[in-house]
This record gives sequence, structure tokens and C-alpha cells, in this order.
Amino acid sequence: MTRTGVYPGTFDPVTLGHMDIIRRGAKLVDRLVIGVTTNPSKNPLFSVEERVRMVKREIEGLPGDVSVVTFDSLLMDFAEREGASMILRGLRAVADFEYEYQMAGMNQQLNCRIETVFLMADVSLQPIASRLVKEIAFYGGDISKFVGPRVTADVARRVDAIGRKGS
Ligand code: ADP
Repeated sequence: MTRTGVYPGTFDPVTLGHMDIIRRGAKLVDRLVIGVTTNPSKNPLFSVEERVRMVKREIEGLPGDVSVVTFDSLLMDFAEREGASMILRGLRAVADFEYEYQMAGMNQQLNCRIETVFLMADVSLQPIASRLVKEIAFYGGDISKFVGPRVTADVARRVDAIGRKGS
């Protein structure tokens, strides 16, 4: 039986932290489906199509069966549709805990056949958050330690188009 896992997120933009979780997750399952949420409530910097394209580009050449799709439904319905037996989430220190704990608990009630599995990124990558990457970029800071080179260029282009802060 093929073991499928889904890794959902906003990926606005995909960071080296996400990539580390993807690499670790891909080793746990036969098939990993990265689900990019439309999530308009988060007011993303990149459209869902752009985010999917960026994640696809970043995972090129990764070993294993890793794919990227967009979804706009309940996470458990998405996971069920993909035939997944687990949902992968990254866990960063205390900041993520409350939210992740609540979400995993409610998802358990919605569908007890699918388990949420938490992974920790490499210690050096744990503080990375898409929200901070965007904030640093908008103030003209260097984000190249936190995201891949092509994502760095994409963010710079978008920030230039919108206009930097504090200038
Ligand atoms: P969401 O909008 O669901 O929080 P994100 O794109 O921010 O989506 O993150 C997707 C998942 O990746 C979440 O489980 C988040 O905790 C995890 N994640 C993001 N950055 C890191 C990191 N640096 N280390 C570990 N996990 C991370």
C-alpha cells in the first residue's frame, strides 16, 4: 500500500524552513503532496499560482515522489481526496504550539483515520518564518539566508513593484 502524506501551508513565500520539512517528510512517506492554500484571509504577497510555481521550482530534483497542488477546502477533505494517512506540519518552538495543537485536535475529531505528524526543522532553520522574511525584505534587508536564490529574486521584484517601507 502506498503511504501518502500531505504537507499543507500558505508558503508565502516558500522558505528554507519549509524545504527542510519537505525533505524530512518525503523520507517518511511514499508520496508527499504539498498543498498550497489559497488563504485570502492572510492577504498573501504572492498569488496561489505564483506560490505553487515557486514551490515546484524549489523541489525540482528532490528524491522521491513529491508533488505540489493547490487546495481551497477543509484540510481533512483535501487529505482524504489525496488518499493520505498523515498530515505533516512543522513545529517551531512555542510560537506554533497553541495553534497547531488546537488544529490537530479539531482535525482529529473531524477525521480519526488521518494522523497529524509534527516535524522539527534543523535548529538553524527553525526561526525562519515567511512573515518575517517579507518584513525584512520590505525594509530592504537581506533575506538570502532564509529562502533560496530564486525566491530571493522573486521577493525583491515584488517588493520593488509595491515599494519598500521606510524609504
Ligand atoms: P500556515 O499558513 O499554515 O502557517 P506556513 O506556510 O506558514 O503555513 O507553514 C506551513 C507549515 O510549515 C506549518 O506547519 C509551519 O509551522 C511550518 N513551518 C514554517 N516555517 C517553518 C520552520 N522554519 N521550521 C519548521 N516548520 C516551519
